[in-house]
Formats: sequence, structure tokens, C-alpha cells
Amino acid sequence: MKEYNIINVGLDDTDSLEGGCTTHLTGLFLLKLLEEKPGILLADYPLLVRLNPAIPWKTRGNAATVLRIMCDCDPEEVAEAAWSIIEEYVGDRKWGVKGPGLVVAMGEPWRDPGLRLLYRKALTDVVALDQARGILEKRGAIARGSTGIIGASAALAALAPGDDYTFELVFYRDPSRIGEERCIDEGRAGEVEASLPPCVFNNYDQEEGRVTAAPGGYDPVLAGFRGDCPAKLFEYRRVLCEDPMFWVLYRSNQHTDAHKTVLTPRLTVYSTGSARATITGEPVVTPGGHVVVPATVNGVETDLVFYRETGPLSKAARMLRRGDEVEVLGSVKPYGKKNGRSIAVEKMWIESIAPHSIRAVPRCPRCGRRMKSAGKDKGYRCKHCNYKTNTKTIIHVYRDLSPGEYTPKTGRLPHLVKPHWRAPRALLKLPMTIRPEQVIGT
Ligand code: ATP
Repeated sequence: MKEYNIINVGLDDTDSLEGGCTTHLTGLFLLKLLEEKPGILLADYPLLVRLNPAIPWKTRGNAATVLRIMCDCDPEEVAEAAWSIIEEYVGDRKWGVKGPGLVVAMGEPWRDPGLRLLYRKALTDVVALDQARGILEKRGAIARGSTGIIGASAALAALAPGDDYTFELVFYRDPSRIGEERCIDEGRAGEVEASLPPCVFNNYDQEEGRVTAAPGGYDPVLAGFRGDCPAKLFEYRRVLCEDPMFWVLYRSNQHTDAHKTVLTPRLTVYSTGSARATITGEPVVTPGGHVVVPATVNGVETDLVFYRETGPLSKAARMLRRGDEVEVLGSVKPYGKKNGRSIAVEKMWIESIAPHSIRAVPRCPRCGRRMKSAGKDKGYRCKHCNYKTNTKTIIHVYRDLSPGEYTPKTGRLPHLVKPHWRAPRALLKLPMTIRPEQVIGT
């Protein structure tokens, strides 16, 4: 059998708020490669890798992509072909605030400790471009472009054997329709959702009766459906009343809690991870419905912020009380009343619930009527029978909150957050090679 090399192509930062999407470009590049080199195989599904959600200069969901191509090709030639399609794709948007990045590396980059560390850091912290370039240089990888090189190189070592993963089936729009309203049959979506086993998630908001898998605006994505069962995801095609131009089936670190590492004790701004927190005061609900809960994390006073859209998560946050112990997974933001920072919470584990009591004006033990204040520092008096007492009644309040895991509702899950209802993945062995028609089609 002929020996093939694995050529790993990492791509990032080819989109902007004006339009485009790196996953779309990746699909177009794969289609072009298949047209020019019909015999190529893939060593993996195309990868959709989410990185640190706290990075402020991301466009939307901080995604990078990787193609692990198996072919008897020259990596320089592959890099040249990829770069020329990037240049064509980004066109006038090219040198805006950010810059596209392309990385090409041979072999199995997930085995490279430097790249693997870079991936872990890019998931949870801020990476400098020079740091990424240094690691790529050591490995002899090809790198082109600018800031996008960070995400593109970090993604190379993602989804190693043994890492948890999910799938996303993405349908792309015909270019002539981009900007027009998407045709999605919301009524049928409810039926399709109800007919599928619970191996699909975050595609449909039952409360709102809305397909949340479809973005808005100029995005070339028609809709992207997520789950653990790739074959079932194709059922969602029935909800699209607009013909997609093509589809790509991605393997992804989405909804796996891949970013759940311990936050640094200093709570570094723009880092993401988990931390134990003790609640120190009553939750405050902002006029927009977001919930701010004072807490100490590693002895540092900080606010935990739960956005209204997170549904059950923010509802649980409203019920937190002083003394409760929780673990939160989220991102450190550079604003907040305490220490100028706060943690935007994506997920919470309530570990223990403190007894909560309030002191109230007592009822008269003799006649049962509510007593009245007898004057400043004079205790309470029953107007009816003249009974007097100095003490308030302690009322133990029933806590309508249970220990356990709290995530946003389906349809509103942040990209990396694992839903608590997701079944543990059996560590399936992936096939050695993948035929392109399994992962891309029209
Ligand atoms: P989309 O979701 O539409 O693909 P995006 O949200 O992924 O858009 P990008 O345009 O890709 O946004 O911009 C993200 C930028 O941040 C890229 O330049 C990427 O290299 C960089 N980046 C990603 N993770 C980190 C990190 N941990 N530290 C520093 N820079 C990062």
C-alpha cells in the first residue's frame, strides 16, 4: 500500500462582521482540493475547534478549523493553494483590525507537547503571536498571515485520540442569497427535534419554538446542527426550505467542557476556566434581567455574572444565598465593582447550600397576633394582650434550590459548555481514513 503523509492545514480569522466564516472557507478549500486532486483521503473529519471564549478580538465564537489531509502532495504546494483561496476569500476585508492565518504541519501534531500546550493555553488564556510562531518554527511548520496564526496553530493539536468530541453538520448558503432572510421551517423543526433521540443538542429552543442553529445576517452559514450522532443530524435537512449550496460534517470540541481547567488564583483578565466560590451576599438582578452575585474566589472578592439568556442557570443564580458553596466555569472580564473584574458564568455546580434564616417581628405566643415595636430598643409588645418580648423570631427559610449541575437551556449553550444531559461518550475509535464524501457534499 502506498504511504501517505498527513498534511495538517490550520485556518483562522478569515471572517469579519462584514461577512465570511472560516468554516465556510474551509469547505470551499476542501471542494477545490477534491476537484484538483480527486484521489485524496482525509485522516480525520474536518475539525471545528473552539478556543478561549473570553478573547475580546474574536468576531463571534472564536473558532479555528483544521483539515488533516492524506495525500502524496508537497506541503508547500498545499500551503500555496490554501493561501491563494484565503486571499481571494478575504478580499477587501483582508487588512482590517485582524488578519487571516494559515499553518501547515506534517505528521501528528497532537503528539507534539509544545503544540498540545499551545492548544490548552489558547482554550483558557491569551496567547502571544510570537509564542505561537516560536513553537511552529521548532516543528518546521509553514505559517502565513498574522493574528490568525494563533488560532490556526493551537487548533492543530486539538481533538487528539482520547479527547471528547461532538459533531456539527453545517449547511452553507448559496452566495446569491447571502443577506436575505433564511428559509427555515420552524414548525417542522419542532417535529424533527421531537423525533430525534437525545443525542442532538443546542439546535432548537423549545420555549421559543425557534431553530437556534441558524445564525442571522450576512453569515454564509444557513444552519449548523450539533450532536453526538452524525447520521441523525442529516434529519435536520428537512427543516431547511432553502437549498444549501453544500454541507460539511465537522468533528469538534464543542460542548465537551474542554476549557474546564482551574482559573489562576489572581483571576487573570480574559482567562477562562473553573473556580470554587463562596457566596457572600444577596444576588442583584439588573434592569436587563442579568444576575450579579457577590462571592469570594480564592480569597479574592469578585462578582459572578449570570446573563439572562442562560435561562435555568440565571434562575438558579437568583436563588443563591450567603454561605452557599459553588464551582463556576466561566471567563474573567475586566469590569466589576470588586477588584475591577468579574466572572461571566457559563455553567455552575452547586456544592452545598447554606441554611438561610431571616429575623422577623414575632407573633404573640399568648394570643397569636402579630406584635408591634414597643419603641427604639424596647422590644415588642402585643397590642391585644400586652405581652412583651425583646427577641425577634428566627425563621428558617426553605431553600428551593438543590446541589447539582446547572447549565443554560438547550439552544442557548455557550459553544464549549457540555450540557448536563449529554450522555458520556464511549471512546469510539475513529476510522484510519475518511472518504471525502462522508464529510462534504452538495
Ligand atoms: P467565527 O466564529 O466566525 O469563525 P471568530 O470568533 O472565530 O469568528 P476570528 O475572526 O477567528 O473570530 O478571530 C479570533 C482571533 O483571535 C484570531 O486571530 C485568533 O488567532 C485569535 N485567538 C484565538 N484564540 C486566542 C487566544 N487564546 N489568545 C490570543 N489570540 C487568540
